[in-house]
Amino acid sequence: GRQIMLGPMREDTRRWIEADKRHAWHPFTPQGPWTADDHEPLVIVRGEGPWIWDSEGRRYLDGNSSIWTNIHGHAHPAINRAIVEQLGQIAHSSFLGFANPRASELASRLTGLFPPGTLERVFFSDDGSTAIEVAMKMSLQYRMQTGEPERTRFVAFADGYHGDTMGAAALGGVSRFFERFRRFGPDVGFVRSLAGLDQFAASEINAVVIEPLIQGVNEMRPWPAGMLAELRDWCDCHGVLLILDEVMTGFGRTGTMFACQREDVIPDFLCLAKGLGGGYLPIAATLTTAPVYDAFLGDPVNAFYYGHSFTANPLACAAALASLDLFLTERTLEELPAKVEHLAKLLEELASCEGVVDVRQCGLVAGIELRAGLGSPVCLRARDHGLLTRPIRDTVVLMPPLCVEREDLDLAIDALKAALAGV
Ligand code: PMP
Repeated sequence: GRQIMLGPMREDTRRWIEADKRHAWHPFTPQGPWTADDHEPLVIVRGEGPWIWDSEGRRYLDGNSSIWTNIHGHAHPAINRAIVEQLGQIAHSSFLGFANPRASELASRLTGLFPPGTLERVFFSDDGSTAIEVAMKMSLQYRMQTGEPERTRFVAFADGYHGDTMGAAALGGVSRFFERFRRFGPDVGFVRSLAGLDQFAASEINAVVIEPLIQGVNEMRPWPAGMLAELRDWCDCHGVLLILDEVMTGFGRTGTMFACQREDVIPDFLCLAKGLGGGYLPIAATLTTAPVYDAFLGDPVNAFYYGHSFTANPLACAAALASLDLFLTERTLEELPAKVEHLAKLLEELASCEGVVDVRQCGLVAGIELRAGLGSPVCLRARDHGLLTRPIRDTVVLMPPLCVEREDLDLAIDALKAALAGV
């Protein structure tokens, strides 16, 4: 291959970047610019709390919680210990044909977070996309087994995002990602708001899927207050199932454990991933109700024939249990309102800075929309001021671990202000 040109850096860094540029292929990434000589990607080597370090020894505030995953930050001794303890027992066992202690505990802990008699069953998988796939297939098969096989259509929201496997991608409304694959997927109708639902024959709709309270990949856009409860009513009224994608919003991000609790909504399917394993190991879960579960009993032909090799991996379940424990021992949710309020105040200041078009916030997630073309340069510049984050187009995402202190939020906003001034 051709010579890869890089500036001065440690020998290890050089080796890792060279190998990456020669052989790796990154998600959502135009590989041309990535492998170009003038691009020197950071190599992340260590984390602690809300901080991460690159291979050159530089420290950054993790403004993106890795990829919206690490709710309690990095290298938390309690989560590390839980994983290591489980590792001493067994790293993996099959959930097909066998139970395992950590999965049993996690299933009951997760269902225990909801009122009794609501979300009673947990189906484990590996990531956000598969949690959505499970909800899609389960809901379709549920219809087949409850006398409504004609209900095959999904309705999703314009500009929404639910993952990248074929089924989940079909629900995706971000056209630059999904348009080219749409014709291969299931029947999905798109709406911009609840009013749009009336264009469909409700009797053909299997389920509506939504990112509750806020759309993430769509540049952090919150929904109007009350919209989720209204959607639940509409679904109940028309016999339509409700799938909530809490892959991003789950586990405290919006201020409550789950976004649906903000509007007292219980979905028919709740999809969880990202923060479920604390961000330490991949694990996902699709929670559902007794009526759905019951439709899969009886004749074995009606079982849910779905699963993956690493379903309910004990290490990941142990991480998830430790992460749930931290919500109690560190009073994560109780500490949140002061942080959320502080962030709101900082964002208000930032809103008046040159180059800022709009600021949007929901709990401890913010989208800072900049003038066209400023997203990438500002995020790059912010690194020099100790903040690591990425834009979605020109919206800078600020989604730090929930363990950040108020001073850390100050640092993040100061870094953005300095970066804006410098660009
Ligand atoms: N749903 C939402 C709302 C997401 O934000 C994401 C990931 N960004 C996914 C689903 C897909 O999750 P994963 O990348 O773990 O497959």
